[in-house]
Amino acid sequence: MSNPIVGGPELPQRRRLVTEIPGPVSRERFARRQQFVAGGVGTTLPVFIEAAGGGVLRDVDGNSLIDLASGIAVTSVGNAAPPVAARVSDQVRAFTHTCFMVTPYDSYVDVCEKLAQLTPGDHAKKSVLLNSGAEAVENAVKIARAYTGRDAVVVFDHAYHGRTNLTMAMTAKNMPYKQGFGPFASAIYRAPMSYPFREPGAISGSAAADRAIDLIDKQVGAANVACIVIEPILGEGGFVVPADGFLPRLADWARDNGVVFVADEIQTGFCRTGAWFACDHEGVVPDLITTAKGIAGGLPLAAVTGRAEIMDAVHSGGLGGTYGGNPVTCAAALGAIEVMQSQDLNAAARRIGDLMVSRLEKLAESHPTIGDIRGRGAMVAIELVGPDGRTPDAARTAAVSAYCHAHGVVTLTCGTYGNVLRFLPPLVIGEQLLAEGMDVLAEAFAATA
Ligand SMILES: *Cc1c(COP(=O)(O)O)cnc(C)c1O
Repeated sequence: MSNPIVGGPELPQRRRLVTEIPGPVSRERFARRQQFVAGGVGTTLPVFIEAAGGGVLRDVDGNSLIDLASGIAVTSVGNAAPPVAARVSDQVRAFTHTCFMVTPYDSYVDVCEKLAQLTPGDHAKKSVLLNSGAEAVENAVKIARAYTGRDAVVVFDHAYHGRTNLTMAMTAKNMPYKQGFGPFASAIYRAPMSYPFREPGAISGSAAADRAIDLIDKQVGAANVACIVIEPILGEGGFVVPADGFLPRLADWARDNGVVFVADEIQTGFCRTGAWFACDHEGVVPDLITTAKGIAGGLPLAAVTGRAEIMDAVHSGGLGGTYGGNPVTCAAALGAIEVMQSQDLNAAARRIGDLMVSRLEKLAESHPTIGDIRGRGAMVAIELVGPDGRTPDAARTAAVSAYCHAHGVVTLTCGTYGNVLRFLPPLVIGEQLLAEGMDVLAEAFAATA
């Protein structure tokens, strides 16, 4: 057996470019990918990775890139984090699968216990483990419907909840997520979000919530609503932080009307925003919470966690799946949570956020195209606009991102209008590496002006 390539924090934490990006080997591999991989699977940056660790991705040409994406908010504890790798390899050697519904094992229960402790609220909680974020959202809706005996689901403008049929219906943006894939699941209703930067006349959080509640009352009827599903900070929709008071007012209304309040914390959860969950910033206690992405250091695990009496409304056998809570993914989650706790990644996320926001504020002084800087903790974005300070500038956003990619910094875009650059560094990234990433971003703005 040949020696495996080793990533993790041992990988030198620096940016180093030895070829153009993508390099010749990546280009060759990409041609093969084009031959065998479905065209519907997109690629942000066609660079093939052979090792990753901390805040660095090393490609097959020997280039080292700065990671400001974390594989879309997944590798918060760093890529190939040692406690994750060790627990996973121990587990793989012990057993790889039994199906928790056939013969159970402890690590599934351990993860559910951690979720009960770490998620908002000190009531009795239970969880079900699943494979993907979309599957978690689907299950939250199933549980809310079983508990309430109602069928309507309320979601919000700019929402992203996944790519399965039900979650496509819940997702707002047509292209690329929904185009050509209908018809979609029924009984989904969309309410207006609080989007402070694009709000006519800075409407307060509670007023924005009342606007949504009025629509729900008049167009759906509170008594028909099983659940409200909301991202406490929009993810794919543009890292929009709703105005203060929006989430608490909605949560109060849900409680008063017997509606299950579901926080989709798949992107915001597990230290990303500088708290365990984004709901914690406003003291909001959701009835159900969906988690995935950051939970397991890169392995596919997701969960629905919630009030015991709501979770238990489903008959035995009504929830589950072959792989949900697979022991290898549970081992990874326990390793990732260990890193979050032992390295206080909430504090790290806040430090990272402060550093990024102060750099971005300076950048905005000389580049008025940066119309808004927003986010919480290490979930930060800038919205790019034209000279009128409003019109979305998706072309400039793409150009800045392309410059960053060509210069060895992995950035992502998002937003309904494609004009938001978002930054999601691993929470273990070194300050110098992060500062260098911000330097390249500043160059990108200068070069594309
Ligand atoms: C990514 C995401 C999902 C879907 O998760 P998958 O694991 O890709 O199915 C759902 N909700 C939010 C908020 C997300 O960011």
